[in-house]
Amino acid sequence: MQQDQKNVTLITADAEIHATTHGGRAKCLQRLVRLDLPVPRTIALSFEAVQSIAAGDMPDMKALLAPFGAAPLLCVRPSSEDPDWGGPGAMLNIGINDALYVDLCDKLGEVAAAEIYLRFVQSYAIHVARLDPDVLDDVSSDPKLGLSQALRAYEAETEEKFPQDPAVQLTEVLRSMARAWGGTTARLLRQAKGAPVDAGLGLVVQELALGLGQGECGSGVMQLVNSQTGERKITGRYLSQSQGREALRGGEDSLFLERDPRGPSLEELAPEAFEALKSYTAMMREKLREEMQAEFTIEDGQVFLLDGLRVARNARAAVGIAVSLAEDGIITREEALMRVEPRALNELLHRQVDPEAPRDILARGIGASPGAASGKIVFSAADAQAAHARGEACVLVRRETSPEDIRGMHAAVAVLTERGGMTSHAAVIGRGIGLPCVVGASDIHFQVRLNQLTMPDGRVVKAGEAITIDGTNGLVLAGETPLLEAARDASFQTLMSWADDVRDIAVRANADTPGDAEVARNFNARGIGLCRTEHMFFEEDHLTVMREMIFADTSEDRAAVLERLLPMQRADFIDIFRIMQGKPVCIRLFDPPLHEFLPTDRAGHLQLAEALDLPLSDVTRRVEALSEYNPMLGMRGVRVGITVPEIYDMQARAIFEATIEASREGEPVVPEIMIPLVSACREVELVKTRFDAVAVAVRNETGRDFTYHLGVMVETPRAALRAGDIAPLVSFLSFGTNDLTQMTYGLSRDDAGRFMSEYVKQGVYPEDPFHTLDVDGVGELLKIGAERGRAANPDVVLSICGEHGGNPESIAFCRDAGFNYVSCSPFRVPVARLAAAQLTV
Ligand code: PEP
Ligand code: MG
Repeated sequence: MQQDQKNVTLITADAEIHATTHGGRAKCLQRLVRLDLPVPRTIALSFEAVQSIAAGDMPDMKALLAPFGAAPLLCVRPSSEDPDWGGPGAMLNIGINDALYVDLCDKLGEVAAAEIYLRFVQSYAIHVARLDPDVLDDVSSDPKLGLSQALRAYEAETEEKFPQDPAVQLTEVLRSMARAWGGTTARLLRQAKGAPVDAGLGLVVQELALGLGQGECGSGVMQLVNSQTGERKITGRYLSQSQGREALRGGEDSLFLERDPRGPSLEELAPEAFEALKSYTAMMREKLREEMQAEFTIEDGQVFLLDGLRVARNARAAVGIAVSLAEDGIITREEALMRVEPRALNELLHRQVDPEAPRDILARGIGASPGAASGKIVFSAADAQAAHARGEACVLVRRETSPEDIRGMHAAVAVLTERGGMTSHAAVIGRGIGLPCVVGASDIHFQVRLNQLTMPDGRVVKAGEAITIDGTNGLVLAGETPLLEAARDASFQTLMSWADDVRDIAVRANADTPGDAEVARNFNARGIGLCRTEHMFFEEDHLTVMREMIFADTSEDRAAVLERLLPMQRADFIDIFRIMQGKPVCIRLFDPPLHEFLPTDRAGHLQLAEALDLPLSDVTRRVEALSEYNPMLGMRGVRVGITVPEIYDMQARAIFEATIEASREGEPVVPEIMIPLVSACREVELVKTRFDAVAVAVRNETGRDFTYHLGVMVETPRAALRAGDIAPLVSFLSFGTNDLTQMTYGLSRDDAGRFMSEYVKQGVYPEDPFHTLDVDGVGELLKIGAERGRAANPDVVLSICGEHGGNPESIAFCRDAGFNYVSCSPFRVPVARLAAAQLTV
């Protein structure tokens, strides 16, 4: 049965062509036609038509070929809804046969004609007839001889004459391309890029502009920006006597476009064609409101535009392009904000190898995904997951990666492969998840069975040894190389400032140390939303004192040890206040169970006994006494604060004294103090009473005044439910969704990893709720807490400070729930600022 012709449309200015029915390429070509640009005649086949073709139902080929006249030469290209979803490779030179060959010999000369025929036979044999490429391995590079050899090989292999009828050739090409779209690899690859399961493929059949023949003939691509930096610079290549994207292979004969000291250029060779191209590309940018790459062919000096593609870009260039389009008035600032995927900023924010630092290059490959990371070599995805579970950074090394490696890639800090290029699996996935990645390192001898790599200079690196992957420059470096924090250029700053102009929910950072605070400030966080003070106690010099405190027998002894901890804490707070320069800092009081500070093995106990001058048995007994069956639900958070109040008293004093000290230099500091793990209103009352007393004492002692805000961390379900009782006692409520998720699900945040992947695989949970906020359950508690808290205290400030605070989806949820700010790890601050801005556009 022949399918309906309505899905086969000649692209004209008024034809019914839509990206959602015919794909992005067909739509783009129509736009170029509307701009009167020199586009060869093109027919678009809709998704529906292609689906029918895959099922064996062909359109009327006579009607399809009619617009192209007698003896046409054609090409077919994929046109998926989103060009990023890919599609089968283009097929060129369809329609060539013995008769046309004779004609072309007259018109173009024998060499060009034979070249065209040979290329078609080769691609038809491999991609349509699916012959083993080896069959054509011995074909001569001389086109005429090669052609007769290729035809003979084809016929010998298939026992059929090479198809001569253009309708048959086109039918078979369309069928094979339509079916390739349904293949497993193609499906997995596009789904990894976010394509829906039922994503459609359109095809465009286009009259071929010949890049071979007499006069200046060739093909190439042009764009007006650099794809890596977004800098405005004409880039691209041109190759005389070539077709398709051959010029991009970058052989010695390919030309620069613009005059260039490094070699000959199209501008010098064919200045008129160059000028025409430049103006076409600029017109595409302006009228299509997007930075475009022109794919062109020059036929006897005349330029044809075969296609316009959105310029491929990394995150840095995406930001640069969006900002420059807005600055040129082509798009609005709001559109510019929407054009950058918030998570893509991660790539831009990644570390890079310090160019000044000494480095030892082991090998080179293709830098397929930017950023740099160091880790121990592992040779399998399973080993990568195991290393990750042990908390070790690892580099996944594979000959090439496949979909089964994706989990391993998520577990690794970087990936190195022997095979592949910029669009190989490892490269595509690596870029997608922002993982530094070097592919195609074929100079390295991958001895996977021996668990080792032999480098080009003979050095052997074994599993477990550290290397550094520089995915920006395609380098494999020995050992751990010093890395630089991410570079943020002027366009990034501009985009971020536009985001801040429209954003209506603030973004703070979770920062525990002065170093974190510096990153937070550099990323323009509105303040610190969570400073976990216990991290300070884990530092080497603090730890011993902390242990002494735990071993103190009496309140007086404890107070004496805390006297020694006080200046350490105070110094930490002064540093953080100074770095934040008057921006709010929310300090969370001591939270973990005490036993976390004690050594776990005999050697550690012995060391502690020596340090404290106690019998070993005393130490062991105390450690045992402090151990709990379920420490995360035991003696931690405010429970320590209530039962051993001296610790919180000391922290309050350190905060107040630091406040006075830091306020001397500028704006008065108003610290925010947050009580963790609250479940009962009375807990807040008790802490508040003691803190007010400490504040009075500090004011009296110093003769200086200050204010502070007290708040509660809502991280037990009961605190969320009783937020109405708690809110009148405090200035703010901050939802700690890590513990809240743990307690809402009854799911240990430290142990859930063991079965989480199985749970997600079987669809028990749609996603890991520790990564993606469970809107239905935990989210409902957030809403209840926010509503009850606000109703009881309309001025109460609401925020989230669990890991979810940096996820664009969670930010949308919190904004809807009326939160004042989100707080996330410092490196996620720009992502959160942009995501928050996008919610208002
Ligand atoms: C939380 O529980 O969400 C939280 C931010 O605190 P922590 O992760 O320190 O328990
Ligand atoms: Mg918590």
